[in-house]
This record gives sequence, C-alpha cells and structure tokens, in this order.
Amino acid sequence: MRIILLGAPGAGKGSVGRPLSSQLEIPVISTGDIFRSNISGRTKLGLTAKGYMDRGELVPDGLTVSIVEDRIAQSDCAKGFILDGFPRNTFQASELDRILEKANLKIDLVLNVHLSDERIIQRLSSRMVCSSCGESYNRMSKDTSMPGICDLCGGRVSVREDDAPETVRKRLETYYLQTMPLIDFYRERGILSTIDNDCTIEEGSKRALEAVRNALPDHMSGHGRL
Ligand code: ADP
Ligand code: ZN
Repeated sequence: MRIILLGAPGAGKGSVGRPLSSQLEIPVISTGDIFRSNISGRTKLGLTAKGYMDRGELVPDGLTVSIVEDRIAQSDCAKGFILDGFPRNTFQASELDRILEKANLKIDLVLNVHLSDERIIQRLSSRMVCSSCGESYNRMSKDTSMPGICDLCGGRVSVREDDAPETVRKRLETYYLQTMPLIDFYRERGILSTIDNDCTIEEGSKRALEAVRNALPDHMSGHGRL
C-alpha cells in the first residue's frame, strides 16, 4: 500500500506514521528526517537544506524530488511506503505522479491529518525530537523517561530549531500557501481521507488505521492482520 500523509507542520503526521508503518510493515519516508540527518552528518545537501528550513521555507523542489525518487526505488519500498512531508506543493505532486507512472504504481490513500492552528502552536512549543531516530516527545504530554535521552534509541532529545515560535508561524504560512491546495487535488481523485487528530497519539493512530482499512479493497480488509 502506498500512502501520503498530508497535514500542517505539527499536526501529527509523524506520530500517525510510525504505528502505521509497523502495522503495515512498510517504511515511512520523511523528507524532513532525511534533511535533518543530512544536517547532523554535515553533508552538502544538509548545508543547503538548513538555510531554507531555518527560515520555515521549502527546500528547492529539484533537490527534494530527486531524494524521494531515489528512496522510493529502494527494495524496502517494493511492498509500499508512507510519505511524510512529501509532496508539499503542486509541482512535487505532479512530479510524484510522473515517477510513479513510470513504475506503473499509484498512491492508494492520502491521509489528511487535521489539527487547528491553535493546537498546533501549543504542541510545537512543547515538542522535543530525538536527533538519532526522529521520535517525538512532548514536555506536556509525553516526556522522555530520562531527561534529554530517547526512550527508543538512547539518542539525544532536544527542541527542534525550526520549532521556535517565529519559524512555526512562517511554516504554517508556507503550509497554507503551498501545501493546502493538495487537499483538493487529492480529494478530486477520490483518494483523500481526513482524520481529526485532536486526540491522544493512540486514538490518532486508531483513526488512521481505520482510514487505511476503509481504503483497502474488500478482499484484503476482511481478514488477516488488519
Ligand atoms: P513539519 O511537517 O513539522 O514542518 P518536517 O520535518 O516535515 O516538519 O519538515 C521540516 C522542514 O523541512 C520544512 O519546513 C521544509 O523546510 C523542509 N522540507 C520537508 N519536506 C519538504 C518537501 N517535501 N519539500 C521542501 N521542503 C521540505
Ligand atoms: Zn531515538
């Protein structure tokens, strides 16, 4: 199954994506995580991406599209994948169509993860992220067991630089201008499903799984793991 997670920054795409990935046994491809790991590895790509990310802007399409194209072609994506943070504008969406058409593949479901601006700003102001595995924590609702140490991998957990209030405002603006039009783009194709994510992480992942079930052809959802 091939899934796109759509939603504003901080709406909870990552928290919804991780459990889906383990239940469906397909990888999550997060362009933001790929950029961040390149920033910590001090690669040329990381250096380029950092400037845009710190300003709350999109990294140029050419770079982003070729990263996704290479990643999708890897063998662990053969059974499917979950795209988190891509596509983020209509150009990236048409490029994704082009890439998938070449391989005779298609997107099965676009999961639109919805949260109000007010809740997004609240959540991002208390968010902490593991710099090694990307797991999210929250000082208010889901703290680490040991201060600053990731429960999953022992990595360092800290505030993301682009979660500073000024940058969050800019990221939301970028979302409304460039990414939100994709909601209609995919709704018109009949593959959009929206979940309200103003709930616990467990409830959000239940809602997501339900949307996945509804998108599966009948013969696949009736029995088996799902
Ligand atoms: P969030 O969804 O919370 O904003 P991400 O980790 O998905 O966080 O993205 C962080 C930043 O990485 C974005 O603000 C943007 O600068 C860059 N980025 C991520 N995905 C893309 C993309 N598909 N195209 C361009 N830039 C991207
Ligand atoms: Zn970790």
